[in-house]
Amino acid sequence: MKRRQLLKSLSLLPLAGGINNLSLQAEPAPAEDLYKELGIRTFINAAGTLTYMTGSIMQDKVLKAINSSVNKFCMLDELQDKVGEQIAKITHAEAATVTSGAYSAMTLGLAGVLTGMDMKKVGQLPNLEGMKSEVICQKAHKDAYTQAFILTGCKIITVETREELEHAINEKTAMMHFLNIAVNGGKIKHEEWIEVGKKHNIPTSIDIAADVPPVENLWRFNDMGFDLVFLSGGKAVRAPQSTGYLMGRKHLIEAARLSAPPRAVTIGRGHKVNKEEILGAYVALKNMISMDHDKEWKKWEAGIALIENAVKEIDGISTNITVNPLGNHTPSLRITWDDSKIKLTGNELRESLRNGNPSIEAGFSGLPIFKGQATPPKPGAKGANSVSITVWMMQPGEDKIVARRLREEFLKVRV
Ligand SMILES: *Cc1c(COP(=O)(O)O)cnc(C)c1O
Repeated sequence: MKRRQLLKSLSLLPLAGGINNLSLQAEPAPAEDLYKELGIRTFINAAGTLTYMTGSIMQDKVLKAINSSVNKFCMLDELQDKVGEQIAKITHAEAATVTSGAYSAMTLGLAGVLTGMDMKKVGQLPNLEGMKSEVICQKAHKDAYTQAFILTGCKIITVETREELEHAINEKTAMMHFLNIAVNGGKIKHEEWIEVGKKHNIPTSIDIAADVPPVENLWRFNDMGFDLVFLSGGKAVRAPQSTGYLMGRKHLIEAARLSAPPRAVTIGRGHKVNKEEILGAYVALKNMISMDHDKEWKKWEAGIALIENAVKEIDGISTNITVNPLGNHTPSLRITWDDSKIKLTGNELRESLRNGNPSIEAGFSGLPIFKGQATPPKPGAKGANSVSITVWMMQPGEDKIVARRLREEFLKVRV
């Protein structure tokens, strides 16, 4: 409210209590609680950056960027050109573009490889007549998300050894794909993968969707020589959930954009990202490189320690803290218990936390990624008496609530 309006409304108030009413008048109207209106459960996220839990919460700077840019128009292509240039600089790529997620980056990136700058081919996909039609990856690197390549009409060919790889390469091979988090699952590592690609003149791609932080991963794989790099905006980068980054060779990014909005008669017309999201994705990345990552890490460690300390002295409980070296790189607390001392399964505990007030979603071990959906361990199975907790998606103070609730639930069922 402007000062003049404020004074005017004040002058309508009875004189006594004018000062109290001043603060009342200056208070903004409470925000609409749409979750409440719609009857939607909200919760403290102790599980991590999971799409089915709506991923992550945007950085403050991203929200500001969105709010300050929404009420102006610009040309979508000009915006993508200029934001792409900046993202490319940050990530040491020749070029870059914002997509509607890492998955979209995979589809569009491969589309660019297949079509080049030929608009006729762009309009023809997923009919691959006259184009290449195979993507090769190592068996351990085929996950739920390689489905993104199928959308172009391509087939995925899996190999396990260098020999098999060399043998699988033929005139139909469009691309050689690498899944960063599966590096230890496959025999062929990054450098060798790139080397074989170069030898046969086949573009190589890498999925690093959930692998930032560490912040160095923003440029590491571009520096290494991958021709296309796919990254999520909606995970720990905390850009809008509906964004991703496609980085790589200039001619491939240019070609990929031919299949992307605003162009119709493309397989990518549904992969729309608008100005708010594109600018949000840009600001998130820009902020990522100037952020104090040590401070952030210490904050996560402190939150994890607080929760660990609240439960670890309870008889029958053991805790350990792990850090995934790759993918969702953050401290994670695993709490396990002896069910002769604590009568509870992990599923029951997660259910109680879910039904408590405030509601809490705790995690479980085992990456859901290869199955494409999350399924907690069955009773009696390994990991059934355990929960996994991360704090990186929590709001300030929520770690204390989680610590208290976990302790309460354990003490309730202690034998
Ligand atoms: C999350 C994820 C994706 C998909 O990313 P989006 O940005 O949600 O499209 C792809 N690959 C891996 C390894 C992932 O973890």
